[in-house]
Amino acid sequence: MTTIAPLTRRVARRSKRLQTRAELAYTSADTTKDKTMINVSFPDGSKREYPDGSTPMSIAEAISKSLAKRSVVAKVNGELYDMKRPLDGDVSLELLDINAKESLDLIRHDASHVMAQAVQELFPGTQVTIGPTIEDGFYYDFARKEPFSTDDFAKIEAKMKEIVDRDLPINREVWGKDDAIAHFKGIGEDYKAQIIDDIIPPGEAITLYAHGDQWSDLCRGPHLPSTGKLPKAFKLMKIAGAYWRGDHRNEMLQRMYGTAWASEKDLAAHLMRLEEAEKRDHRKLGRELDLFHMQEEGKGMVFWHPKGLTLWRVVENYVRRRLDEADYIEVRTPQVLDRKFWEQSGHWDKYRDNMFIAETAEDETLSLKPMNCPGHVQIFKQGQKSYRDLPMRMAEFGACHRYEPSGALHGLMRVRAFTQDDAHIFCREDQIESETARFITLAKSIHADFGLETDHINLATRPETRAGSDEFWDKAETQMLSAARAAGVEPIIAEGDGAFYAPKLDFVIKDAIGREWTIGTIQLDYVLPERLDAEYVGEDGGKHRPVMLHRAILGSLERFIGVLIENYSGAFPMWLSPVQVVVASISEGAHAYAEQAAEELRAAGLRVAVDTRGEKINYKIREHSLQKVPVIAVVGAKEAEERKLALRRFGSQANEVVLLDDAKRFLVDEALPPDLKRAKA
Ligand SMILES: [Zn+2]
Ligand SMILES: [Zn+2]
Repeated sequence: MTTIAPLTRRVARRSKRLQTRAELAYTSADTTKDKTMINVSFPDGSKREYPDGSTPMSIAEAISKSLAKRSVVAKVNGELYDMKRPLDGDVSLELLDINAKESLDLIRHDASHVMAQAVQELFPGTQVTIGPTIEDGFYYDFARKEPFSTDDFAKIEAKMKEIVDRDLPINREVWGKDDAIAHFKGIGEDYKAQIIDDIIPPGEAITLYAHGDQWSDLCRGPHLPSTGKLPKAFKLMKIAGAYWRGDHRNEMLQRMYGTAWASEKDLAAHLMRLEEAEKRDHRKLGRELDLFHMQEEGKGMVFWHPKGLTLWRVVENYVRRRLDEADYIEVRTPQVLDRKFWEQSGHWDKYRDNMFIAETAEDETLSLKPMNCPGHVQIFKQGQKSYRDLPMRMAEFGACHRYEPSGALHGLMRVRAFTQDDAHIFCREDQIESETARFITLAKSIHADFGLETDHINLATRPETRAGSDEFWDKAETQMLSAARAAGVEPIIAEGDGAFYAPKLDFVIKDAIGREWTIGTIQLDYVLPERLDAEYVGEDGGKHRPVMLHRAILGSLERFIGVLIENYSGAFPMWLSPVQVVVASISEGAHAYAEQAAEELRAAGLRVAVDTRGEKINYKIREHSLQKVPVIAVVGAKEAEERKLALRRFGSQANEVVLLDDAKRFLVDEALPPDLKRAKA
């Protein structure tokens, strides 16, 4: 830990502000610029003239007092601006209120600043470092000798609300680099001084955001106009250790996490979702339902128990049937391949750090495959291919290994060993669109069969570092876009998220509690066929390169099963349930009939367990209900005599007494996977 200077910041800041006031960009408009007019166009298409140097706030005030009061941030030519930041030249202007989607990030960022101010007021001597927004909230890393505890949260939250009530104006200030470093050093904020020193190029101005005269932070902004605009819909969540700048050789800081929303209603809904998510945690359910376990000796690798593997097989068999139906061929490629192979594919160079390496007594160096694509190209290259062989849709339930740092692993969601429902479509360029469209339709249908509707599809476009010319990217992005449209989908553009060699489409589904999961992808690739020298003979008799479409519908079976567990909270629909029916006997006299009924249901194709233990029937029912078995068939002397079953559905108290022969029929129907159900209809 570095030494912590006493809190002298308030005094120091005030004197500094007087010197730097002249540098403020905001004031320059009034004094130095000509009083010319600028054209401002509004979302409704109207245009008006305002004096040069106008701010979103002054324009809002000119329109109406209530608009000015409501607006918290502006969109200027698509970019977010503080309400008090002057406009430069002709612009399009949209004024946003606190409920706008764009305001959420400001709310969280403001909350992190307000939390930092509150912490420094309550715990003098604490140094601030960085405080970004994250999904659903924010954090701030503090340097303080004494540890914070969650017992401090109530006090900090109360102080935050007090700062909101003070309604301090939030002002953007432009500082010179050296002044800023001197300022932060002067008030004992060594970390801040170091950040500025390290990341701001010499001569470049930096921006600070100040809460009135009380507090300020190095920040890019934008922010709300005043602390009073911050909704009191925030909550501190947890504390964790975090190394300064993420480096374990540096000091350990204390990271305080919070969540913040536009309204108390939104906050309550979020907290409810978290509680719900905790109940559904697949690691907890995996243990309780005896599906799988993981242990230290195999970090990020799964031990599938019989019930878990039953679920796996149901998923795999279903997907295989769908692929057969969609004219895929299935292959299997080696798990371990020589280093030379990976050198040729380019993985050894680019991906070496994520590969598990093996060595032999014969001096061979090999690697476990991190992906299946290069292997599939080898199969494609066996024998001459002609244009008539294309498209060739080559699938593999491919077991891959990738090294991930142990800190990044998370249950089934982030693992080191996984099985992809992988396939590569080798096709001609003129087949890209139709193959992509066909894939989208198939993937959507498969997701829907698992009860996961596609929420939207992202089109990930050219990243900053990329291979290929702009013409190539124009063409490739257009191909993916029109393919999506041909499949009846309007994708959301995810700017810059594409692979370095081509764009891709990612499927996003929403689960039962509204969480989004990216499941399934299709990626265009001209590079690998070139690198690995795949070719086919075209209609013209000449040799051509095929295009490869890398695609997966579930992603990895591990993660997908994790999502299924959480989506259904372990109460799977009949067709996915590892155990579909438990036949439980009430008394010893019914044991033999219970065994016989179970046998007959099994013979009809159901997955059936039988419980003839000498326990009370209520105890048995409670236990199988906790195991979330869809149907419990209770049998006593009466049922045995009449060849009947008393059925209890999961989540219901009702008893449905039916003939065993009838039950066989309708339970088998209910247990049919969706594709087979359709085929039968
Ligand atoms: Zn900030
Ligand atoms: Zn691939």
